[in-house]
Amino acid sequence: MSNRKRILIVGGVAGGASCAARARRLSEEAEIVLFDRGEYVSFANCGLPYYVGNVIKKEEKLLVATPDLFKKQFNIQVKLQSEILAIDRENKQIEVKDLSSGETYLESYDTLVLSPGAAPIKPPLPGIELPGIFTVRTIPETRQIKEWIENNRAKSAVVVGGGFIGLEMTENLVNLGLSVTIVEMQPQVMPLYDTELISPVHKHLIRKGVKLRLDETVTGFEQNGSSLSIQLKSGETENADLVILSVGVRPETKLAKEAGLEIGELGGIKVDEHMRTNDENIWAVGDAVEVKDFVTGKPTLVPLAGPANRQGRIAADGICGRDSRFRGVQGTSAVVVFGLTISSTGPSEKTLKRLDVWDDSKHEKIYLHPNQHATYYPGAKMMTLKLIFAKDDGQIIGAQAVGEEGVEKRIDVIAFAIQKNSTVFDLEEAELCYCPQSGSAKDAVNFAGMIAANVLREDAQIAHCADAVNNNAFLLDVRDPAEFKRGRIDGAVNIPLNELRSRIGELPKDQEILTYCLVGQRSYYANRILTQNGFKAKNISGGYLIYTFCEKNRPKSLSK
Ligand SMILES: Cc1cc2nc3c(=O)[nH]c(=O)nc-3n(C[C@H](O)[C@H](O)[C@H](O)COP(=O)(O)OP(=O)(O)OC[C@H]3O[C@@H](n4cnc5c(N)ncnc54)[C@H](O)[C@@H]3O)c2cc1C
Repeated sequence: MSNRKRILIVGGVAGGASCAARARRLSEEAEIVLFDRGEYVSFANCGLPYYVGNVIKKEEKLLVATPDLFKKQFNIQVKLQSEILAIDRENKQIEVKDLSSGETYLESYDTLVLSPGAAPIKPPLPGIELPGIFTVRTIPETRQIKEWIENNRAKSAVVVGGGFIGLEMTENLVNLGLSVTIVEMQPQVMPLYDTELISPVHKHLIRKGVKLRLDETVTGFEQNGSSLSIQLKSGETENADLVILSVGVRPETKLAKEAGLEIGELGGIKVDEHMRTNDENIWAVGDAVEVKDFVTGKPTLVPLAGPANRQGRIAADGICGRDSRFRGVQGTSAVVVFGLTISSTGPSEKTLKRLDVWDDSKHEKIYLHPNQHATYYPGAKMMTLKLIFAKDDGQIIGAQAVGEEGVEKRIDVIAFAIQKNSTVFDLEEAELCYCPQSGSAKDAVNFAGMIAANVLREDAQIAHCADAVNNNAFLLDVRDPAEFKRGRIDGAVNIPLNELRSRIGELPKDQEILTYCLVGQRSYYANRILTQNGFKAKNISGGYLIYTFCEKNRPKSLSK
């Protein structure tokens, strides 16, 4: 850049701060000013639940950078407690309110970047403003939660909304000794995930003493002595000493809307692939913008720190004359709750169905339950992985996984494979790390690729739990009798794998046979024996475990 350009940035956390720092690295001449209405710049909002739970003990640990660091290291001016009230696009000015003095003033820009984030949704319910009801977005809010717990010697909490912030808050409150109830209007926590993957999460939460009220909606709050009474749609109530509202976020678009900037169909600021709005001098990034879903190509809102940071960097590139483009989001994410990791990339089956994209003739899914490392090495832990792919060319569409260890590593590999438009055949061939402590010679990702590739090559036809329940197939359970005795799919016949060759005559040649075992591996071997002997056989993907996740996973209202 030749001229001294004035770059003003609204919002000094994930997207705004990365944009500012990158812009400085690309241009020593530009004047860069970062505004935030809060008391902090560049703080770790992702760490807030752990600050509440005393895992992060000191507030200053949440501060990734300070105004002083921005000034000294980057020559960027940070103006805190400075709220931008309006944008005058014609005169390229913003109106700033100094929240400490109450004064307002104008600042001129050559380029304006909006990274105002998203606001936690506070539904307009009776009693929503009562003391003791909190959202989790800023350091001062979490400080208030900590003080409230301490001052009121809080013993119980209701967390409204079982998304990732709700689960992280639940874990931290439980670890502080509070008894916690999650009220979630969907029949599952982590509502964007496919239901069957969340079944182990429900069990895990219940094991940790969390009370789940699923399919339940909060209708209002009332003061009940020193605690709160939380009214539910079912007519029941919950009592708690505090309430955490974690029912989602809404993009902060007030400024953009009032300035006449284009808003997308989902309510986020509309930007092009360079993160530029419909005003050539204004760019927008982060939770406030609507971007393209990399897989479906449809607009989406994905409030995550990774995309916000990358978008900030891309906007800075564009502002400084580079041709960087944002590829779109996949929603690659993970949450860890009481040691259980839930992770996904790309759309879930549920999302594809909601968007009317899922087509049984075009899409397939497989389930597997690999270990995070070789089973001969102590501490092997099983995870459950679901892979969604295209039936015609094997293109990977999405993956979800749950387990104690090594889960996000597999999802990260698959996430990158999706970005590179890879297929299940690529996963089959992927060369990945293996040592006894962290992998297997055939990694979970390879296994996923192999299983999916087997399906596409028609080496193994698969069926799903719904097929086991809904059609008239002959159900063959190839587990050992003791396992069969402990639980089975209704109507199944037990012939253990090791006896299958000698007892093959017991099976019908004129009926489709659905094989299953615990996880799908022994029944795959059985399936190979049967198909090579002229039987019409399919293997139930993910086995009896997935069947139990599908059929018995939905605790209506479960307590400790
Ligand atoms: C509790 C919690 C946990 C999270 N955990 C994760 C996680 O584990 N992984 C993950 O990927 N993401 C996580 N996120 C989400 C992630 O923090 C956000 O996606 C990311 O911070 C978005 O960046 P942003 O720059 O768009 O907005 P923000 O980081 O929210 O920054 C926006 C800033 O703009 C300021 N602002 C807004 N309007 C104005 C105005 N008019 N004038 C001046 N300033 C203004 C706000 O005060 C705010 O400081 C978490 C979020 C929360 C709240």
